[in-house]
Amino acid sequence: MAPRRTDSAPPPPAADPVAALDRIAYLLERDQAPTYRVKAFRTASAVVAGLDPDDLRLRVERHTLGDLKGIGPKTADVIEQAHAGGVPGYLADLEARPSPVPTDGAALLAAQRGDCHMHSDWSDGGSPIELMARTARDLGHEWVVLTDHSPRLTVARGLTAERLRAQLDVVAEIAAELAPFRLLTGIECDILDDGSLDQEPELLDRLDVVVASVHSKLRMDEPAMTRRLLAAVRNPRVNVLGHCTGRLIQGKQRPESAFDADAVFAACAESDTAVEINCRPERSDPPSRLLRGALAAGVFLSIDTDAHAPGQLDWQGYGCARAKACDVPADRVITTWPVERLLAWTGASR
Ligand SMILES: [Zn+2]
Ligand SMILES: [Zn+2]
Repeated sequence: MAPRRTDSAPPPPAADPVAALDRIAYLLERDQAPTYRVKAFRTASAVVAGLDPDDLRLRVERHTLGDLKGIGPKTADVIEQAHAGGVPGYLADLEARPSPVPTDGAALLAAQRGDCHMHSDWSDGGSPIELMARTARDLGHEWVVLTDHSPRLTVARGLTAERLRAQLDVVAEIAAELAPFRLLTGIECDILDDGSLDQEPELLDRLDVVVASVHSKLRMDEPAMTRRLLAAVRNPRVNVLGHCTGRLIQGKQRPESAFDADAVFAACAESDTAVEINCRPERSDPPSRLLRGALAAGVFLSIDTDAHAPGQLDWQGYGCARAKACDVPADRVITTWPVERLLAWTGASR
């Protein structure tokens, strides 16, 4: 296995304005900057990528980049400085700031080979599939699973069966380009009120990895929520139970859903369904008390970023720090597994 870098992707080569803009966006995403700030750099990157090199050179020389829609004074400065062969000042300042992602789970982080949960702009992510996959690869991963939302989650532009079928064709093309890195197919499938899954069973069977999560009626009473989760984790098509309590601990907060955790984790262990350690800082789900319970029940765990933007793929350190604090052994974590082991395991449960 190639040694995994524990820091972020390397700085871009000089004289590459697109790489400089992308790197700035990546660092802002990693550091949880507001979306509008990130968007300025992602937009400018797309504009520059679409320019003819001679046109770009002339605009740099004449200082007319700002005339283009999608490029403002700040992004024009970055482009001009990168085009001249230097590291733009704005980027240098960002690179000099320490990453907010904790490093206390460094050994476990270094053992990570993949990520079972990320979104693209096909649902509520902000970036194309290819950029998400390339970023995962550049972070040192050997594989990553694309898990866009299912149809009922309309606020997140959940994929209908038809759109998911179309996505599988697109993923196949990108995966072929990125080999030997493995871009795997998947879904974050809603767990409906009765515990059934929000996608056609035959289509779920075609996917490499199925993450199942609750996104609606999070406050249902404890017996009903327990039945709902039990049905989902016992479904042989489900491989990973996503953010099991649904809690939010930053910004707009939300309490944990009430359910019989002992019963649900016992069912996960029995049905070979992994429990996710969701790395998003506002989720940090499950809480440590439940994470210890899951571990004691003998389940596998999946340290997932649930990234909605490239820079968020860097968030595995949050989950690794929490896992280390609860003494989670690396071998119990499916995201440390080689892709062959992962696929043998997901395939065996179907
Ligand atoms: Zn989710
Ligand atoms: Zn998600």
